[in-house]
Amino acid sequence: MSQSDVEAIDVKVAVLRQTGAKLKIESAKLGAPRPTEVRVRIVATGVCHTDMVVRDQLFPTPLPIILGHEGAGIVESVGYAVTTVAPGDHVVMTYMSCGLCLPCETGHPAHCSHMHPLNFGGGRIDGSTSTCSCDDASPIHDHFFGQSSFSTYAVANERNVVKVSKDAPLELLGPLGCGIQTGAGSVLKALKVEAGASFAAFGAGAVGLASVMAAKVAGATTIIAVDVTPSRLELALELGATHVINSREEDPVKRIHEITGGGVNYSLECSGRAEVLRQAIDAVTTLGTCGIVGATKVGTEVAFNINDVMIPGKRIMGIVQGDVVANAFIPTLVDLYMQGRFPFDKLCRFYSFDQVNEAMADSERGVTIKPILRMPTSADQA
Ligand code: ZN
Repeated sequence: MSQSDVEAIDVKVAVLRQTGAKLKIESAKLGAPRPTEVRVRIVATGVCHTDMVVRDQLFPTPLPIILGHEGAGIVESVGYAVTTVAPGDHVVMTYMSCGLCLPCETGHPAHCSHMHPLNFGGGRIDGSTSTCSCDDASPIHDHFFGQSSFSTYAVANERNVVKVSKDAPLELLGPLGCGIQTGAGSVLKALKVEAGASFAAFGAGAVGLASVMAAKVAGATTIIAVDVTPSRLELALELGATHVINSREEDPVKRIHEITGGGVNYSLECSGRAEVLRQAIDAVTTLGTCGIVGATKVGTEVAFNINDVMIPGKRIMGIVQGDVVANAFIPTLVDLYMQGRFPFDKLCRFYSFDQVNEAMADSERGVTIKPILRMPTSADQA
């Protein structure tokens, strides 16, 4: 399709209209991509903890807004300046970054100086949106994580779509763009866990289990998963954990010190809870590093013993999106998956798009680790 043929299209979107409300499936119009943008037919999209955090506005955004930020799909049309993808390409959508600030230019786009407006601002950085309601033509905020993928189509930027192999199962790949990339990247790129190291994941949801699989890929020889849900701990063992700890039944810090003889080299806080972060810091040995990835209510603080961090030379590292360059890292995860070395499909369960609220509820109850919404195809709609 050439640029001049590209027009607004009819889409189905799941809209958050009020804090904490259920998402409502509505009809909307989605505009054409701008010069550096792409419009993608969403095949499937993961549901991530951050969607629930924003639904409840613990992390505020403008409303109404289309959430969803783990989209995978097929490029439908592109703006005239786009050079890296073309219609028909299979893509995974990830978060948006500016590409021009110092963190972006030095290979750390997840720490982009414009991360907040680009991903949580409810539109492009100039304040414009691509979506309006079919009922009254009022604008609906979008560009959530540069995509708003709870929709049959989404407009993203060339910068935040990653071309993937057509041999890989596209409907499974969306979660690689956020939750799975976060857990795996934290281990392989941010913490740089090495062969023979000890590692503990606090929280065995999608991020924590991705970190467990990545620790196995890295060659860590002690891999500990901490959670309160027995089924998640069983899955952690299946995915490569050497030990699991139910923190409702035993003190994880004490147990980790027993297993490792003094603490782990690396820990990763994936639960978003202040008291768990304290445990993740206390579980680390001399010169070890505690990474923080759990999304937390704005303003949350934690207390720790300064001498117990300073004297052993512990490091505490904030990590966003695994600190990866998605264009390089997502294809790596696809390769590892295709080789059977990163079986993240074991975390996933499929739902239809109209089950979006049920998928969120199942995730919150711990019934499903990584829900993926399958979008209706044109055959379904006919
Ligand atoms: Zn930037």
